[in-house]
Amino acid sequence: MDTQSPPLHLYFLPMLAPGHMIPMVDLARQFARQGVKATFLTTPLNAPQISKAIDRERELGSQISLRLLQFPSKESGLPEGIESMSATTTLEQTLCFFNALDHFQGPIERLAAEDRPDCFIAGPMYTWGNDFAAKFGITRLSFWGTGFFPLCVHNSLRRHKPLEKIESDTEEFVIPDLPDTLKTTKQQLPESWKEDSESSLKEKLEKLMKEEEGSYGMVVNSFYELEPAYVKYCREVMGRKSWHIGPVSLCNKEDGEKSQRGQAASIGEEECLNWLNSKTPNSVVYVCFGSMAIFSAAQLREIAAGLEASGQPFIWVVKQNNKEEEMKEWMPEGFEKRMQDRALIIRGWAPQVLILDHEAVGGFVTHCGWNSLLEGVAAGVPMVTWPLSAEQFLNEKMATQILKIGVPVGVQAWTRRTDSRAPINRENIEAAVKELMIGEEAEERRSRAIALGNMAKKAVEPGGSSDADLSSLLEELRINRNKNLHG
Ligand code: UDP
Repeated sequence: MDTQSPPLHLYFLPMLAPGHMIPMVDLARQFARQGVKATFLTTPLNAPQISKAIDRERELGSQISLRLLQFPSKESGLPEGIESMSATTTLEQTLCFFNALDHFQGPIERLAAEDRPDCFIAGPMYTWGNDFAAKFGITRLSFWGTGFFPLCVHNSLRRHKPLEKIESDTEEFVIPDLPDTLKTTKQQLPESWKEDSESSLKEKLEKLMKEEEGSYGMVVNSFYELEPAYVKYCREVMGRKSWHIGPVSLCNKEDGEKSQRGQAASIGEEECLNWLNSKTPNSVVYVCFGSMAIFSAAQLREIAAGLEASGQPFIWVVKQNNKEEEMKEWMPEGFEKRMQDRALIIRGWAPQVLILDHEAVGGFVTHCGWNSLLEGVAAGVPMVTWPLSAEQFLNEKMATQILKIGVPVGVQAWTRRTDSRAPINRENIEAAVKELMIGEEAEERRSRAIALGNMAKKAVEPGGSSDADLSSLLEELRINRNKNLHG
């Protein structure tokens, strides 16, 4: 490390949603541990979710701090109190929310005029990032929170436009020009990727892609050994500078750190660990669909019945319908009583990484959000895949067809955050969970997952592939700073 010059100063601005803020906090902490100064930018209502992790890191000696920006509620036309994508309830609100993020440019420029950072790492939707970086002569990197594989698929679909020739939503087609032969359908792809999608959504995405392509490069929460062919594809075919520095969740080593990611957990660390400690290794199925998904009462009822019929111990995180009266609406008669020795139901926020890392957990029913997928991989846990929205159907293909650590529950169509599909019935859920947990194939799948988990841990150790990429990125940022200062 260059000990003569002052430390690099990096600004981190995540997209305002839990699935973006949580990994970016881990990312900022990782950078700060390398001796750089990290300033994390967010809004007052988002701060409580991340301030503990940042304070703790600072107490350990890192130069990391939180700066608050007022959310532009007035300018955006959104009601007060909506400062996260997870708080928007309609497509109109989500679009207003994206537009609101344009208003951060001014306040951040004023901060930067004082701080003079060397680098700006931002999540998607900040379509003014390149402009800002150019004004200040600094390096602008993007952090989209997803892996190389979905980025490559999106790139392939944009370049080869196979959707133009596809008429039906259910017709299968091969995703062109990828290292693996993989099929998809129109109905599995995000709305905004389709030609006939709502025009303002598509326009936003186009703007975003131009912004991304104009940035200096991408920081990706992944590791080389997970998707080597797609790391190469991104660099060589797409021509994008990119650094894999994950899994970022692995920077949380102590139980206390693992249980303080995101919102305050709805269960105490001790209670959770005591429950897990009472179960045998690899016996528990952990069921969680991320921070955003909203299921119907009918779907929740099927999940409850399917899990019960599977005969496996489980932890089930129920996000919505978690009020007492609403629980009654879908909870099968006597379910909680029958399950009291076998199941732990967490209503609200679970300490996910703490749970996944416990030796008792042997399977994960997941919506395939990139963070969840990677956290499952890092913990060496095989999964039942149950995608909903965003790029989750692609992540499912990665888990089931490339990595071969997943069993699909059988959903076929993309949906918005509120699941509007016909419920997956209890028999399918029971069958998928049993296939995941029982039998020879399940053991083989678990062995593959454990091997990947070991590779993930090695990747972030000194000299591992992610650690090496982080060092080379820092070196490049120092070179850029010198060029910008002297050139
Ligand atoms: N998460 C958690 N507890 C919960 C739900 C989610 O800790 O009860 C964390 C999870 O560990 C992951 C993030 O929230 O880091 C969710 O991101 P992901 O990409 O999996 O899905 P999203 O919420 O964006 O759909």
